[in-house]
Amino acid sequence: MARGPRRTETRIVHAGRDPKVDNGGVNPPVQRASTVLLDKAEDMFRPGVWTYGIHGTATHRALKAALCELEQADHCHLLSSGLLACTVPIMALASPGKHILVCDNVYGPTRRFCDQTMKQWGCETEYFPPDIGADIAAMIRPETCVVFLESPGSMTFEVSDTPAIAAAARVAGVATVFDNTWGAGHFHKPLDLGVDVSVQATSKYPGGSADLLGGSIVTRDEELSARVKQVITNLGLSVSPDDAYLVLRGLRTMTTRMARHDGSARKIAAWLAGRPEVARVLHPALPDDAYHDLWKRDFSGAAGLFAFSLAPPADTKDVNAFLNALELFGLGFSWGGYESLAIPCDPQLKRTSTKPEFGGKLIRLSIGLEAPEDLIADLEAGFEALAASLAGA
Ligand SMILES: *Cc1c(COP(=O)(O)O)cnc(C)c1O
Repeated sequence: MARGPRRTETRIVHAGRDPKVDNGGVNPPVQRASTVLLDKAEDMFRPGVWTYGIHGTATHRALKAALCELEQADHCHLLSSGLLACTVPIMALASPGKHILVCDNVYGPTRRFCDQTMKQWGCETEYFPPDIGADIAAMIRPETCVVFLESPGSMTFEVSDTPAIAAAARVAGVATVFDNTWGAGHFHKPLDLGVDVSVQATSKYPGGSADLLGGSIVTRDEELSARVKQVITNLGLSVSPDDAYLVLRGLRTMTTRMARHDGSARKIAAWLAGRPEVARVLHPALPDDAYHDLWKRDFSGAAGLFAFSLAPPADTKDVNAFLNALELFGLGFSWGGYESLAIPCDPQLKRTSTKPEFGGKLIRLSIGLEAPEDLIADLEAGFEALAASLAGA
């Protein structure tokens, strides 16, 4: 019987490992190396020969193979943080006098890099509303060098019409880079939608345990890959083999974890939507979310990260009372780990293209692997503290 194309869940278990060459061990070993010994003097300057640890070891090559498999990419580059995975492709594409288009709901540190570092290097960044769609064409200039997307935005969860934006950029000959941390290469496949470069913070779902930092860049475009590689090589960027190993280890269970994160987050989001204290829930998998149709078209699942707003008159002190009453939700940045987290969003919301309204103060939740019923009980305690704070207690 013919074996059909395999699903992500299957491919990610088998990709990037070969027990036959690893002495039977299921997992590839952690290979540490700076110096690489060569057989012959003739090999030392031969192109394509592995000559130094900074270019990666067998552990890095195994992780790259698995990440290529995840998004059906041909080239993968590893970075020591998700932020570098976002900024390196921009550096690879930009030069003085160029113009950069970035979605206005982008991850804050990516925005800061564009506004400060790229500005210092003579590039102007312009922000477009996340729901711009094909109208992006009108913002593309002759000197535009990259369109940077993140969908859904990791604070406000707008889903972009990525195929329309990618098509408009392609017609204009402009490369697209997509921050795919929320979809993690599993629930969302931007390369299949016409995007040139997909990046993610492997610190989040691939790592899955809040104990490592990493980023990945994948593409099917050989020339773009070569440009990215040049920046990485020239700057001397590298990832420790131990961290590469942990990301690969995490990937094996990522699809299982994400299915659970998704199921719990949808339960909790639906429960929050029915609470009188909540003005709005920002979760694209909820049927009445403004971005639900786009999400349904382009995603196969939802991450455990979403936000909700507290109905006025709840202000910062009331948000803090709610957050301080939580026991299971940790107050911490980042997300994608097995433990649940909560943060107030408003201090991080920076918009220049439009001023969207979210109905009140925003709180973001990262739903972990705990029982959703226990997380709901924890949030209920938060609402009691909120009521006390609103009553002036
Ligand atoms: C966390 C995050 C990053 C950066 O990842 P780090 O490894 O923390 O540098 C980039 N993009 C998004 C959407 C993120 O949430």
